[in-house]
Amino acid sequence: MNALTIDVEDYFHVQAFAHVIEPTTWDCYPMRVEKNTCRLLELLEQRGVRATFFVLGWVAEHCPNLVRRIIADGHEIGSHGYSHQMIGRGDEKDFRRDVTRAKAILEDQTGASIRCYRAPSYSITAKTFWALEILAELGFEYDSSIYPVHHDNYGMPEAPRFPHVQWLRDGRRILEFPPSTFAACGVNLPVAGGGYFRLLPYELTAWAIRRINSKEKQPAMVYLHPWEIDPDQPRVAAGWRSRFRHYHNLRATESKFARLLDDFSWGPISNVLALSWSEQKAKCEVGDGL
Ligand SMILES: [Zn+2]
Repeated sequence: MNALTIDVEDYFHVQAFAHVIEPTTWDCYPMRVEKNTCRLLELLEQRGVRATFFVLGWVAEHCPNLVRRIIADGHEIGSHGYSHQMIGRGDEKDFRRDVTRAKAILEDQTGASIRCYRAPSYSITAKTFWALEILAELGFEYDSSIYPVHHDNYGMPEAPRFPHVQWLRDGRRILEFPPSTFAACGVNLPVAGGGYFRLLPYELTAWAIRRINSKEKQPAMVYLHPWEIDPDQPRVAAGWRSRFRHYHNLRATESKFARLLDDFSWGPISNVLALSWSEQKAKCEVGDGL
């Protein structure tokens, strides 16, 4: 089983447009996240697939019925923070405040404790590694915020590529599940999510996931955003690079995603980790995997 994750945010929250859209103006943009998330829920329901939905606190606050709908369909809820700001833009106090606020909104709406977290734009890096300690302190058990790649905005290329226990300075631990990569000649290439999923031919993504499953004997981690299946979303005036990152191949994404759902076995993070843990215990393997 592979982990399927959806980052529930709208097109005007993304990092690619952060330089042209101030958070104070978010209320001025027509929201499309509810409709797009419901379309994803339909695609999953048709196939009996369950996933982890990392919901942005701002979205949960503005669409209170959305979280209830996701839960009613049997999915897992995780937190994507409240304000979708790169962690490095603030300090530890700002991060704690953002995460606490988002967690409280989600826990109020779900009536359960929120155990999974994904940082906006994978912004836990070597410089913001302290964020893991705050997450563990606040009661999070799983994190999926460290992308083991080179990138201009995020990434820790030396980080492990597969699920592992991250021991923290205060003696706590958190289970880290990174998005999937393909390792070639000492370089990790992102293959299974977001812009990379839209950019790469489907066959390449499928080949990489099969390789992770059969050769490396590990679960893959895929992520998608609701706005990625919405080719008719309003266009934001930004530079070519931002527009390419955000708009490339939107029209083809829903059918590619449906194919991915059909071709592999999927589950929420906690289920995949529980399975991986029991399988590895059964084999009495020792290593840096779970
Ligand atoms: Zn995000």
